[in-house]
Amino acid sequence: MLTGAEYLESLDDGRITIFEGQRVTDLPGHTVLGAAVHRVAAGYEWLAANAVDGQSPLAGVPTSPEELRAKVDVVHHAGMMAHVTYTSIMTLATAAGRIKDAAPGYIEPIQAFIEDAHRRDIRITQCITDAKGDRSRPPGKQDDPDQYVRVVDRQADGVVIRGAKLHITGASLGHELLTIPTKAMKAGEEDYAIACMVPVNAPGVKIINTTYAPRHADTRDFPVSGKDAAPEGFVIFDDVFVPRDRVFLDGEVSLAAMFAHSLGLWERLGGLSGMADQADMLVGLAQLVAESNGLAGEAHIKEKISEMIIHATVVRACLEACLTHAQIGPFGAAFPDELYTNAGKYTGAANYSLMVRHLHDIAGGAIVTAPSISDLESAEVGGLARKYMSGASGDGEYRTRLFHLIRDLTADAYGGWQAVTAIQAGGGLYAQRIVTRKHYDLDRARALARHAAGVEA
Ligand SMILES: Cc1cc2nc3c(=O)[nH]c(=O)nc-3n(C[C@H](O)[C@H](O)[C@H](O)COP(=O)(O)OP(=O)(O)OC[C@H]3O[C@@H](n4cnc5c(N)ncnc54)[C@H](O)[C@@H]3O)c2cc1C
Repeated sequence: MLTGAEYLESLDDGRITIFEGQRVTDLPGHTVLGAAVHRVAAGYEWLAANAVDGQSPLAGVPTSPEELRAKVDVVHHAGMMAHVTYTSIMTLATAAGRIKDAAPGYIEPIQAFIEDAHRRDIRITQCITDAKGDRSRPPGKQDDPDQYVRVVDRQADGVVIRGAKLHITGASLGHELLTIPTKAMKAGEEDYAIACMVPVNAPGVKIINTTYAPRHADTRDFPVSGKDAAPEGFVIFDDVFVPRDRVFLDGEVSLAAMFAHSLGLWERLGGLSGMADQADMLVGLAQLVAESNGLAGEAHIKEKISEMIIHATVVRACLEACLTHAQIGPFGAAFPDELYTNAGKYTGAANYSLMVRHLHDIAGGAIVTAPSISDLESAEVGGLARKYMSGASGDGEYRTRLFHLIRDLTADAYGGWQAVTAIQAGGGLYAQRIVTRKHYDLDRARALARHAAGVEA
């Protein structure tokens, strides 16, 4: 297993990663990106401290609903990069099961990579979303053929790929890029049916980073984003050579969607488990700020918090259901139930803005105007700031810190990122609606309706 220090050293591998127009040569020491890098290192340390027989608890594919549940908890604790790595490995394991009969030649390279990834204890990010150009046109009908990642050259020992994958969470902080088609492909689109694994430092890979990490010198006013702000990567493949043993699909258009569909399940399971905890935290925050404002007993406040509790409970119920109803699939791996996973992720995402609306309504304007911690420490105004921030709790700093957390989570740069992420990450609401409908037993629902109406088919 890698230590945190070894992880930090591993990033010094010649990778081309850019932030605001400048090449980043020291990721751990970078003023804006550095905190996220150290957070990943801390995740490695946490996993080492929780190792089982010298093995990372991240390693291994779950083979029962109980193991799946335990893995979800581990991934949740170990941080974003552990989450995307686990999701990538499970995507490959799932896809291997789905393509094994139609394209058996790819199973060995996929399984060899999974073993190698566990042995090296690396972090893998998921490159699915293409630039896509004109959304109304398929890959092969774009004015610029590079709008979807494609093979531009096939050689005896590998392929050369070109294109870009956008919004890739943590791309610059990992070691390998799982690169897979974003959608189904048709005959004539063989060059776009490419799935492969690309090292972050491969010649031709260039990553532009964006981040919602706070730029303030004092991050105490940013209790979440000050510590936890994985950058998003705009990953460019500028004619990148991929050796044959790292190619997991090349040209089989009928199988192109298998990888993205496999990933969708695991990505949404991660999203759903994050949303379940997040919803409970928003409920707790609403209750604490209501108490601190002296209004926790007010009927309209209690009604809003009750509505938040119902939402949080329904999201958690979907998480519980998708784990409890996990199915054992190819190679003995345990898979969360698709219907509950997708319906739960959709519900969490679609109602997120309602949770935030209630929280903002309950808390008041100090969400965006509360003084900073350093203001509270000021010899000149600190005492007065504490006095007037005290509310019903009697402690101005306590109430101020609640407001800082609400702003950071829901009303500042990270809050904006959260709002968009809830809707778009994991494929967007539209994708979750499609998958939910596909797995719902519509025939049973129709039969029930017919029976109640007293009509036959
Ligand atoms: C913070 C964040 C992190 C992310 N992390 C990752 C990651 O790690 N890896 C990764 O691969 N992706 C990641 N994504 C990307 C995410 O999956 C996409 O944002 C999402 O799939 C939507 O794609 P898009 O942004 O290109 O928007 P678009 O595809 O342009 O969608 C915008 C809207 O147009 C609709 N639309 C698009 N095309 C059509 C069409 N042909 N017909 C009808 N309607 C259409 C969509 O349904 C949607 O409503 C992340 C996104 C965010 C915001």
